[in-house]
Amino acid sequence: MRMSRYLLNTLKEVPREAETLSHQLMLRSCMIKKIAAGIYTYMPIGYRVIRKIEAIIREELNRENCIELLMPAVQPAELWKESMRWDFYGKELLRFKDRKGADFCMGPTHEEIITDVVRRELKSYRQLPLNLYQIQTKFRDEIRPRYGLMRGREFIMKDAYSFDVDDKASEKSYWSMYHAYARIFHRCGLKFRAVEADSGAIGGSFTHEFHVLADTGEDTVLSCSHCEYTANIEKAECRQPDPIEHGILEKIEKKETPGKKSVEEVAEFLSVKPDKLIKTMIFSTQDGTSVAVLVRGDHEVNEVKVRNFLGLNAMELADEDLIQASTGGPSGFSGPVGLNIRILADAAVKEMENAVTGANEKDTHWVNVNPGRDFVVGEYGDFRLAEKGERCPRCDKGEYEQFKGIEVGQVFRLGEKYSKSMNCSFLDENGKDKSAVMGCYGIGVGRTAAAAIEQNNDENGIVWPVNIAPFDVMLLNLDIQDDSVNEAAQRLYDDLKSKGLEVLYDERDVRAGFKFKDADLIGLPIQVIVGKRGLKEGLAEVKVRRTGERVKESPENVPAKIEALLKNLKEQEEQRR
Ligand code: ATP
Ligand code: MG
Repeated sequence: MRMSRYLLNTLKEVPREAETLSHQLMLRSCMIKKIAAGIYTYMPIGYRVIRKIEAIIREELNRENCIELLMPAVQPAELWKESMRWDFYGKELLRFKDRKGADFCMGPTHEEIITDVVRRELKSYRQLPLNLYQIQTKFRDEIRPRYGLMRGREFIMKDAYSFDVDDKASEKSYWSMYHAYARIFHRCGLKFRAVEADSGAIGGSFTHEFHVLADTGEDTVLSCSHCEYTANIEKAECRQPDPIEHGILEKIEKKETPGKKSVEEVAEFLSVKPDKLIKTMIFSTQDGTSVAVLVRGDHEVNEVKVRNFLGLNAMELADEDLIQASTGGPSGFSGPVGLNIRILADAAVKEMENAVTGANEKDTHWVNVNPGRDFVVGEYGDFRLAEKGERCPRCDKGEYEQFKGIEVGQVFRLGEKYSKSMNCSFLDENGKDKSAVMGCYGIGVGRTAAAAIEQNNDENGIVWPVNIAPFDVMLLNLDIQDDSVNEAAQRLYDDLKSKGLEVLYDERDVRAGFKFKDADLIGLPIQVIVGKRGLKEGLAEVKVRRTGERVKESPENVPAKIEALLKNLKEQEEQRR
């Protein structure tokens, strides 16, 4: 592609609206243009990256015998009512009416549609397993669209859905997708982790998220330094605390703690460490009742764990009125002594003695409180957030390391959630009607491109991994007024193309410095520089964008040199861990 004929205007300035590097670089290198909040046009060079990622996805899924189809973006409400999600799904679901007044939505995901498609075709167990996928535009009316393609409202997703005869077969489908995903992200040249994640309150299901490691990631991931265990912080398990040797249980006593509400304030005021305190959090559940959750003062409640334990879809911190009604005291002074609501406590609380808690009375705390003696816990469990540095609960050897991740994909076992409610069944070997067992699998295509930039850049711009770079080579002609340079560059351009390489040829009438800057910003893996000075010695220069390495070659040798360099780079990038 000739640059002067292409639609690619780079920006020198960092656009003010872009907070993350990938967003800035995508705008500066003319990959995307914003149309409205979270809604973008993929400009030609950006769309090439999207297509490259899509091609890798297609190859790896086809290898696993997945079958591609394309479903509609506009979905009728009826199907969503069947699955009970029409009312349940939040405001992310963009609902609207057609001219006849019928309800529709823009598909944020396609479980309903695919289940409807399959239930109409599926008759016999002989048709299973089935794994169908599409690469399609989704719409989610995200409350905070941001970071460009990272969290858009309209975005491209690959979504796949597996249908199997039973749990065992479904598990096999799950792992085949898991391995396909690992290959896809390796081929994209990304450093990533497959992370155990929360699957909500649906029993029996489990899920992995694939996270690209990057400081700008919105998710926190904990990973054992010794074993394979890696989990999203929402899910990461805590090791059972070691039992303590019990000492003398002191007499419980009330203390005035005027205005001291937070753990830090109370600990300082009473001259104890925060781990001497029992923190009491009151939550309100869907049915309007309240539940108290106790954790050690230096720990944090993990709401996801509590919610799953209680089998709830939603739960929130109680407001002042509910705290007053449930405990008899104001917020900041809640405690379990004399409390008459359901009490859950984190396992670490069991190993505390002579602790400090709120007294359910303004400006008052109890000291020397002992679980069992002074209050009774309904259930002990793992209800807190795991922290970095803690011993791993799985192997008991390594420690949790913490990093930030960008969720680029997820694999999920759905079980019979949709097949049951929407009646997607088949006749088994014995002629008995059975619900299909499903799985669903998503990859954010645009988010993967953005995550790749977050991981592959330097102060001059993007450094594309070879397999997803929009072109392989940037060819720079430094002297377009010079016939011999033009001729040599044109010949190189043709040679490279005939070798199957994708070349962006910068033959614009602009200064050399400008071309160098753009070449680095756009970040194609290889640059070839042809100019008067070099040609005098019969040489062109080849530069590797990632390493900055430069070699001079006679133009005839340049294509072979580039092929060797690309092969090398590709191997290194696919091996990144
Ligand atoms: P998130 O937690 O980031 O909102 P999600 O878990 O709701 O994402 P899924 O339903 O698992 O998303 O969708 C599958 C994939 O689609 C995600 O792993 C992510 O890569 C991508 N994705 C989801 N929401 C967006 C979005 N708003 N913009 C871009 N990509 C998205
Ligand atoms: Mg997800």
